[in-house]
Amino acid sequence: MAWKKRGAADGEAVRYTTLKIRLYPTPAQAELFENTFGCCRYIWNRMLADEQRFYLETDQHFIPTPAKYKNEAPFLKEVDNQALIQEHNKLSQAFRVFFKNPETFGHPNFKRKKTAKSAFTACNHVFSSGPTIYTTRDGIRMTKAGIVKAKFSRRPQAWWKLRRITVERTKTGKYFCSIVYEYTEKVPEAAAPAPEATLGLKYSLACFCTADNGERSAPPRWLKRSREKLAKLQKRLSRMEPGSRNYGEAAQKYRLLHEHIANQRRDFLHKESSRIANGWNAVCVRNDDLREMARELRLASVPDAGFGMFREMLRYKLARQGKALIEVGRYAPTTRTCSACGMVRDAVPHKAKTWICPKCGAVHDREINAAKNIKAQGLAQYFDRQKLRESA
Ligand SMILES: [Zn+2]
Repeated sequence: MAWKKRGAADGEAVRYTTLKIRLYPTPAQAELFENTFGCCRYIWNRMLADEQRFYLETDQHFIPTPAKYKNEAPFLKEVDNQALIQEHNKLSQAFRVFFKNPETFGHPNFKRKKTAKSAFTACNHVFSSGPTIYTTRDGIRMTKAGIVKAKFSRRPQAWWKLRRITVERTKTGKYFCSIVYEYTEKVPEAAAPAPEATLGLKYSLACFCTADNGERSAPPRWLKRSREKLAKLQKRLSRMEPGSRNYGEAAQKYRLLHEHIANQRRDFLHKESSRIANGWNAVCVRNDDLREMARELRLASVPDAGFGMFREMLRYKLARQGKALIEVGRYAPTTRTCSACGMVRDAVPHKAKTWICPKCGAVHDREINAAKNIKAQGLAQYFDRQKLRESA
């Protein structure tokens, strides 16, 4: 979700919101979706191959449009043309970000059936006869597929404008549709953060999030239980013969549980970020590079990642209310500094949960002390910048 000021009246901002609905396609509609996924992969690969060929021959970057391929590949005409146009847009965008920042984004790759996401995107077009995509009481109307049955967990507001949809099939065989809506909203007055209304947050692997006031946002216990179950299933899977019937059943069970945990986690992150964004005027966090943290701790992946997602949720939920998410530099010694007297120690052992300041004798909880430093530094940073802006 993002927002920008362009295209809106004075004092208003254009905002986007996404609604994810479960689809229940008929067998014919499911087949059409599968064909569309396949055509999207096909057109992406053809355009990418041609782009590379043109570049070798002419030293120019050029991506042909999908229309060029329709005569030699007539099956492309059977799916929603909008989905193919979107592949063209996505490939152009992938090249744009690659040229701008080749180290971060990498060259666009060919898509394989086994690894590529099964998804397509289509934009809504509003004609005098009506829009091409719209929701009904218990479904959504799409080009080519017609009305697909769907379940809504919440309803769109009447003033939202449907911009585009992305239809995807998960690995567990469920179909979902993400609907992007656009609407305008009055921009709230920016509020300067008062120290008593500002929260400092420290991320840690052990307890997810600790606030400077001592509150912890630990993920609920059932999340841990689900994860233990997942580990057990994985172990069982590794002992089975791939390709056997038992293996297939266990693999599906594993994928379902995996999906369930991802949903549980997202729910938790949404609830926590809403609670914090609504309750405080500003939030300070450290701009941690989570991949780097995992490397330091020699972990293959950040277990229960989600802090990056959490940070983004906090950012837009605060921004909607004119509040700030203040990010402190990731190399600030927030763990090693005594929040009482300001003394910076050389190191605090990785495993120490509490420590005593050698200078002032204060007893610190490692996480709470760090959160306090993050808050103090964030506020100092905010007011420094404001002073700079005022003097400029
Ligand atoms: Zn001290």
